[in-house]
Amino acid sequence: MIFADIIIDISVKSLDKTFQYIVPACLEDEIKTGSLVTVPFGNGNRQLKGYVVNLTDTPKFDRAKTKSITGVEKNAIPAESHLLALAGWIKENYGASMNDAIKAVMPVKKEIKERVQRTVYPLLSPAEMEKLALEFEKKHNTARARVLRCFTSLDSSIYYNGIDYNYITKNLKCPKSVIDSLEQMGITSTSSSRQYRNPAKHGDTSSTRHVLNDEQQHIANAVLADYAGGIRKTYLIHGVTGSGKTEVYMEIIEGVLSYGRQVIVLIPEIALTFQTVNRFYQRFGDRVSVIHSRLSAGERYDQFLRAKEGLVDIMIGPRSALFMPFKKLGLIVVDEEHETSYQSETPPKYHAREVAVQRARMLGASVLLGSATPSLEAYYKAQAGEYGLFTLKKRAGGAHLPQVHIVDLREEFENKNYSVFSSRLSTLVEERLQKHEQSIIFINRRGYASFISCRKCGEAIGCPHCSVSLKPHMHNGIVDRMKCHFCGYEIPLPAACPSCGSKYIGTFGIGTQQVEEAAKKRFQGARILRMDADTTGGKDGHSRILGQFGRGEADILIGTQMIVKGHDFPNVTLVGIIAADLSLNAGDYRAAERTYQLIAQAAGRAGRGGKSGEVVLQTYQPSHYSIVHAAGQDYESFYNQEISIREMLHYPPVSNILGILVFSENEESASKLAGIISEIAEQYQTVTVLGPADAPVAKAKDIYRKMVYGKCMDYSTLCSVKDYIEAFKEQDTEFRDCGINFEFNINR
Ligand code: ADP
Ligand code: ZN
Ligand code: ZN
Repeated sequence: MIFADIIIDISVKSLDKTFQYIVPACLEDEIKTGSLVTVPFGNGNRQLKGYVVNLTDTPKFDRAKTKSITGVEKNAIPAESHLLALAGWIKENYGASMNDAIKAVMPVKKEIKERVQRTVYPLLSPAEMEKLALEFEKKHNTARARVLRCFTSLDSSIYYNGIDYNYITKNLKCPKSVIDSLEQMGITSTSSSRQYRNPAKHGDTSSTRHVLNDEQQHIANAVLADYAGGIRKTYLIHGVTGSGKTEVYMEIIEGVLSYGRQVIVLIPEIALTFQTVNRFYQRFGDRVSVIHSRLSAGERYDQFLRAKEGLVDIMIGPRSALFMPFKKLGLIVVDEEHETSYQSETPPKYHAREVAVQRARMLGASVLLGSATPSLEAYYKAQAGEYGLFTLKKRAGGAHLPQVHIVDLREEFENKNYSVFSSRLSTLVEERLQKHEQSIIFINRRGYASFISCRKCGEAIGCPHCSVSLKPHMHNGIVDRMKCHFCGYEIPLPAACPSCGSKYIGTFGIGTQQVEEAAKKRFQGARILRMDADTTGGKDGHSRILGQFGRGEADILIGTQMIVKGHDFPNVTLVGIIAADLSLNAGDYRAAERTYQLIAQAAGRAGRGGKSGEVVLQTYQPSHYSIVHAAGQDYESFYNQEISIREMLHYPPVSNILGILVFSENEESASKLAGIISEIAEQYQTVTVLGPADAPVAKAKDIYRKMVYGKCMDYSTLCSVKDYIEAFKEQDTEFRDCGINFEFNINR
């Protein structure tokens, strides 16, 4: 007798373990590890779904009390065993439930009806067909005659190519029975072929292949030499914006493909698929595919199947493309590895870069990380020798890095310029309009309106204990207090700026729409495009706007974060950054890192073609190290300063931080449980506890949210803190109305 260990598909923490069932004899052939099955569950024998994670012949419990599997889910795609193992790793490392982890590694769960192309072919010569058509017409067999006439009307060169089945049924109005009868008479035959939807198709395969420069070639050679020698590892390519990293990826990919292995290319978000897929398609043609959430379910299923059946070699897509079921995965590329979108925001809260490294390790593949502004995590590992490190210092194709002007917004205020455009920026935009070159205006909305700062001196009101800014708190619709979301420190809203006494303090409120309005007034006659969450809805919202801008149909592109990433517009010679330091006040320990990245990336959009570029960086903190080094594109200096702060304050990647979110409809109960949790964590000597405090979103949909943080050098200690708290919660009866979520080294 065979027994199956099953993870039940239900989001209840206490049920996050395997349950054993008997595999009935009649289902023995069908049920494998990874199958999705239905089982009777609990006292009421409710029918629930679950994944089989293990098959065994030794029963765990009394056989008489073990229930049997009811059936196998139709159309469900079974989870592959190595993906189940990966799910297990995700569960362990991110404090997720196995059920959530399995769902994450199975981005395509159900078979979708395949799309078939059916064609009706002639079995007779045109002359014979003509004869028969006449006969049918005489017998008033008009339907059959119509089909034959359709064949005889065809040019002889395409006669044997056949006619589309649907054309016959719809346009010629001949039912299936007519086609069947022609087939029985030996006049025609029907054949069907599976049609895959390939959303990567761009038609244009005229490849403009560059000869790699020395820096680029050196990297490709080194990685491929390792590959040939059987060495599999993770590499970080730190290359300034426009240094030709994508060309290097493609060169290495070509080498890996020559070993008959496949490649996954992760890109940070859908907005970027358009340009990237285009470039890959031009080089690799139909062997490239793409998968993302804006495709239809059918399109997604097809790409999944094509990967599984080895019909494509390269799969491009955001986070979830990581789990494509390639048979012989050889390489995973993580482009722009520093991007926050690689961090999953819902459980399991995994980081795609880390999971990529783990998946590659399990399958004997290599990983290629690339960024102009590496995450502290990746660079730290590269410095420690765990990852291979390469740098590209020059822009490819002879382009130069742009000239950067830092504008001090405090001086603009002194000079009574209250507009969002500094006088420098205005002048330079006008110059571009005259020269028919393009400008990008970037609004840094990270941290937007979530802090209070002074218009005169630019100072944000911060926590004296945590080096993060305090968050404003509303009460009856007015901001009256300010709190720290790490340690809970709290003060009433000051009436004047604590550092300069100015009364002009408040939330920093500018949005893309306001900037667009201001630009229309300031630059009369300019053609302006705006790109933000409001203007990019629909399946191709992003590519539509980017396409318009790329074709030169606008002079100025205004937008948020999404316009600064990875795009390549040769005619853009000016980038304006409206409030470069907004993100410094985001209230978390990654604020400086994010600010550096946003500015360096935004600046990197200027001057990528033959023309040289300029950048105007408007800021209240012109001497902050993240701003100074970003302006100079000096990553090493930034890294050295930032890593020493992380060392001092015990933040990742030097140390580890576990965030414990307690939530409940009952605020008192959430607070009390958070207090107990912080006491539990305090008992571990090597763990430093912060909080409890309100979560960044302190209340959502009437659920109160409290955070406790634990910092520790040793990751596994934090895992045991988590296990202990989970065990406590499972036994406890007092806090039934509370839920707990865990976040490790969260990276957003
Ligand atoms: P990155 O990914 O580092 O930002 P890209 O790969 O997009 O850089 O390259 C930037 C630009 O330089 C692109 O227009 C690309 O076609 C061009 N380019 C890359 N490598 C070369 C090369 N070896 N010679 C000439 N142009 C190149
Ligand atoms: Zn001030
Ligand atoms: Zn604090």
